[in-house]
Amino acid sequence: MNAHPSTPYALPDAPRDFSLLIDGSLIPVSDREPIDRTSPAHRRLVSRYPRATAADTDSAVAAAKTAFEKTDWATMPGAARARLILKVAELIREHKAELAQIEALEGGKPVSAIEGEIDVSVDLWEYAATLARHAYGDTYDTLGKDTMGLVLRQPIGVVAMITPWNFPLLILSQKLPFALALGCTAVVKPSELTSGTALLLGELLQKAGMPAGVVNILAGSGSTIGMQLCSHTDVAVVSFTGSTEVGKTISRAAADTLKRVSLELGGKAAHIVFADADLEAAADKVAFGILHNAGQCCVSGTRLLVQRSVAEQFSQAVAAQIKSVRVGDPLDPTVKVGPVISKQQYETIGSYIAIGKEENATLMLGGTQSLQHGGVDGYFVEPTIFADVSPDMRIAQEEIFGPVLAIIPFDTVDEALEIANSTIYGLASGVWTSNLDTAFKCARGLRSGTVEVNTYIAGAPELPLVGHRQSGVGHEKGRFAVEEFTELKTVQLQFGPLTDRWVPKGN
Ligand code: NDP
Repeated sequence: MNAHPSTPYALPDAPRDFSLLIDGSLIPVSDREPIDRTSPAHRRLVSRYPRATAADTDSAVAAAKTAFEKTDWATMPGAARARLILKVAELIREHKAELAQIEALEGGKPVSAIEGEIDVSVDLWEYAATLARHAYGDTYDTLGKDTMGLVLRQPIGVVAMITPWNFPLLILSQKLPFALALGCTAVVKPSELTSGTALLLGELLQKAGMPAGVVNILAGSGSTIGMQLCSHTDVAVVSFTGSTEVGKTISRAAADTLKRVSLELGGKAAHIVFADADLEAAADKVAFGILHNAGQCCVSGTRLLVQRSVAEQFSQAVAAQIKSVRVGDPLDPTVKVGPVISKQQYETIGSYIAIGKEENATLMLGGTQSLQHGGVDGYFVEPTIFADVSPDMRIAQEEIFGPVLAIIPFDTVDEALEIANSTIYGLASGVWTSNLDTAFKCARGLRSGTVEVNTYIAGAPELPLVGHRQSGVGHEKGRFAVEEFTELKTVQLQFGPLTDRWVPKGN
């Protein structure tokens, strides 16, 4: 039934079945044990994925290895790979509403947000296509009269991509088109909670004419097939996005085969607001930074550091902005905040709200949870603000992954930097000021992979995503992605006459 008649979005009567993609063949759910996904917003079965077996995982890696070593995928002209990637981008664009509906049902994220993410995903595929024509090495014509050195940059091989539930297609689009552009092949394992759009992408890749084995897409749990990929001898790189804890497990598992590991992990971003900022614009983006995807973003602006002289006034402005945001059914295009992803996450967030109260932070807004909101059965957490938070409290140190904002006052730039840098994470920070000196001092002093000034969660395919400290290892997006998916080879050439002898002639 279509509850939102002027839109393409409706709660379906029956779940949608998806297929695995292995070596160019689609394997339907009827051929495997099903993984059932119940919508966290409506608590209705919405998707069924085929659970990949250990044998499927081996077949997927073998197919990717064969496609890499025995077909012309890695050696074809970059322009040909670019054309294929652009075709996929076009198909994603054409299937935007279908993809948005799947992610809203499986993840509880509002369609308005997902539509924007799909546009960004298309942009990522289009940008990555340009790299297929711009990956190059180096030359040395300075080594002597009869010698020359070439440094070739070659695709590294099979890349295993393991992704989280919070931005299913977007995060995959930060990895897959880049690896493909550079001539790698891939085995993809999305989160068991939101595998639908990755599996549908498999069908779109087929439609675009992607050669068999170049991309393989599995569904299943991280502790089984995820681990198998991380320790597999024929996987050259694990490109992982997820929690810091699992990132460490993956690093350990990958160590035995010395594979390259790229980790995009958790965060505890600080949003720093100075008294001289455009406070109205800042309040809007602080609200967005904590409520986007119900606070379930690695870059959620979960700590608000605000200069003491405007702390009271600004905190009230943020609270008013947050109160004005519509919470409810993710299929409703006017809704900005949906439920959280699962019962487990709902309970974790609840336990952090209790911790905040025990730590004697002032509960300024929210703090309640409910399994029903506006006629929708789901895991809803009311947007919550704690004021008078001190930097060492657990709610200011640990990743909550929910719509819970901790407000910490400060006096000077140095104090703000010290507080912002005081967690184990280093993913993202926001700075609001009209003073250029303050902006540059913060940009230099913040120990996070991204610093945004007078904007938040803007991003662009050209700009790399980097995690410092326990927020990650390596980087993705931008031209630097070339480094993640290629390796260097030195070729030294000697020209004749070849007179140089280790043992002189006649000895
Ligand atoms: P998890 O770390 O729990 O899971 C991420 C992926 O890893 C899933 O596909 C999961 O599979 C898989 N996985 C779990 N255990 C293993 C294992 N032992 N071996 C191999 N794979 C495994 O993260 P969430 O899905 O809960 O996502 C939230 C986390 O992701 C947050 O910490 C967030 O900060 C981080 N994140 C980081 C981003 C960044 O760019 N830095 C961006 C987005 C999120 P399954 O769950 O299906 O079993």
